Amino acid sequence: MRTWHEPARELPVRAEVDILVVGGGPSGIMAAKAAAGNGRKVMLLESRGYLGGNLTLGLPILAYLDVNGKQCVKGFAQELIDRLAARGAAGPHVPCKNHMSLTIIDPEEVKTVALEMMEEVGVEVLMYVFCSDVIKDGDTVRGVIIESKAGREVIFAKTVIDCTGDGDVATRAGVEMHKGDKDGGMQPPTLMYSVRKVDMAAFRDALVNHRDVFDMDVMPPEQFARRYFITVGLRNQINQANKDGLDIPVARTILITGLKDDQIWVNMSRVSGVDSTKPESYTFGEIEARRQMYRINAYLRRYVPGFKDLEVEKVAPFLGIRESRVMVGKYVLTAEDILESRRFDDVVTVAGYPVDIHHSTGSDCTMLFAKDNHDIPYRCLVPEKVGGLLVAGRCSSFTHEAMAGTRVMSTCMALGQAAGTAARIALDEGVAVADVDVKAVQKDLLANGAFLG
Ligand SMILES: Cc1cc2nc3c(=O)[nH]c(=O)nc-3n(C[C@H](O)[C@H](O)[C@H](O)COP(=O)(O)OP(=O)(O)OC[C@H]3O[C@@H](n4cnc5c(N)ncnc54)[C@H](O)[C@@H]3O)c2cc1C
Repeated sequence: MRTWHEPARELPVRAEVDILVVGGGPSGIMAAKAAAGNGRKVMLLESRGYLGGNLTLGLPILAYLDVNGKQCVKGFAQELIDRLAARGAAGPHVPCKNHMSLTIIDPEEVKTVALEMMEEVGVEVLMYVFCSDVIKDGDTVRGVIIESKAGREVIFAKTVIDCTGDGDVATRAGVEMHKGDKDGGMQPPTLMYSVRKVDMAAFRDALVNHRDVFDMDVMPPEQFARRYFITVGLRNQINQANKDGLDIPVARTILITGLKDDQIWVNMSRVSGVDSTKPESYTFGEIEARRQMYRINAYLRRYVPGFKDLEVEKVAPFLGIRESRVMVGKYVLTAEDILESRRFDDVVTVAGYPVDIHHSTGSDCTMLFAKDNHDIPYRCLVPEKVGGLLVAGRCSSFTHEAMAGTRVMSTCMALGQAAGTAARIALDEGVAVADVDVKAVQKDLLANGAFLG
């Protein structure tokens, strides 16, 4: 590759803070909220013009409840729902055979509520800045370099929490990262969008009363009589549409009820091979997913009862990335840990979602269910060799298979709360984040409403 030597130059220091959270998605919002307190100066960086990350795509939040219907994610993640519900912007936690539970939220209101939460605890939010590099002293992160319309600037921090989803900070800091399965195959991305003018009575009737035609995998008919549900099925219809030449990229029809009566969110585009850490690949994904949307609408209109008059209402602001870089931390959570419902002394998050792998190629998905929820230990947030840094969210330390379960937004929020709490307590104790008293972190999490089993 052709290169150019960039001359060294002085950079302005924009800020010096105690705890810096990079990435304002589900994990980042909760990390920043938990880090605030004790007069600590906390800053949250976000490259887009709003907070929320994937909470703004139109997705339901899955697995607040576990396989036994017990609520296993509480704390700040529950506070978000309570605040949204008070504005009429969230539904209840609805049990679901496939997804343990779904909680429908209004993606626009999330942006407002997240900002309110930050303002209340005094977190300084800085948007439209992209974290492009780190500053290190030996093996310890001391801050980051940001890029924006204002140029290239420095923010020094005593602790940085990487909540970028892609592990951008950890990667630049030299933390070992991995991507995908043994062949590097990653779960494909999807461009979410909502449609209106759905005849819900006709749709429900097909799912509840005509299962012989309208198949629904493992999901029982009574689920679809409820106000809120997710469909995962109608394989026969997709097969027929493909025979008729429509070229639908997924094997299963995944549709999610919205907060409005005739609204459905469509989770059906799928672009294999996209790597969100490569702009040309991400660009290809955006273009291809947008093309697929028109074929999917043609399928819904013609093959799915109730959809013949659909109108596209809103397309998500960006192509949603299921998987990219994941850290290799002090402990790497495995699928066995999830499926055998393992417990850890240093638990900081309890999670209840199955291993749900959208195949990196082809159109199908594998789901593996556990009999109970499982723990995630603090060590999954801690890099093995690099100090001054925690990594929270979908890029914490998991195998490819485990991450297919822990990636849901309820779990990411709980991981964020754990990381922010640990960063704050480590500073209070005057120790490195890797050496924080985990019992004190657990005590603080419990005092702030978290569930630890
Ligand atoms: C199509 C799809 C369907 C899914 N379905 C569900 C579902 O139904 N329910 C569910 O609960 N979960 C679902 N998930 C999983 C879930 O959305 C994600 O795993 C989760 O949002 C990850 O949270 P996060 O905080 O780690 O990252 P993100 O939500 O990705 O947030 C990261 C934030 O960091 C910002 N950022 C990134 N890099 C930088 C940088 N260098 N500098 C500054 N800011 C940066 C981003 O702009 C973003 O706001 C789905 C995911 C996808 C893609």
